[in-house]
Amino acid sequence: MVNESIIKKLMSSIKCAVCGQRYEEDGIKILGHQEDLWLLRVSCPVCHTQCLAAAVIKEDKAPQVITDLTGVEQEKFTSVDRLTADEVLDMHNFLKNFDGDFSLLFSPK
Ligand SMILES: [Zn+2]
Repeated sequence: MVNESIIKKLMSSIKCAVCGQRYEEDGIKILGHQEDLWLLRVSCPVCHTQCLAAAVIKEDKAPQVITDLTGVEQEKFTSVDRLTADEVLDMHNFLKNFDGDFSLLFSPK
């Protein structure tokens, strides 16, 4: 079963896009999830850049972490304190329909 500690462990293997520091569990906030898609906000312990991330966790598949939102989207998401359910749903639909290249930042060891 997917649980928060798995998500946090996964995210702590990801590096900050700005300064390269790995995220720490304390800086990872789980916003919610729908089915296999988990939405997270991560903040860098060094440069304090905040970033919205999505993790797709499926059984028998390597988890995918998606952090490359556009600047506009990042600005939108980082400027609100809390995502509404509608925004989470929008994000879910965006990811469902998005067939471009994900940055696959997580690779199985
Ligand atoms: Zn950083």
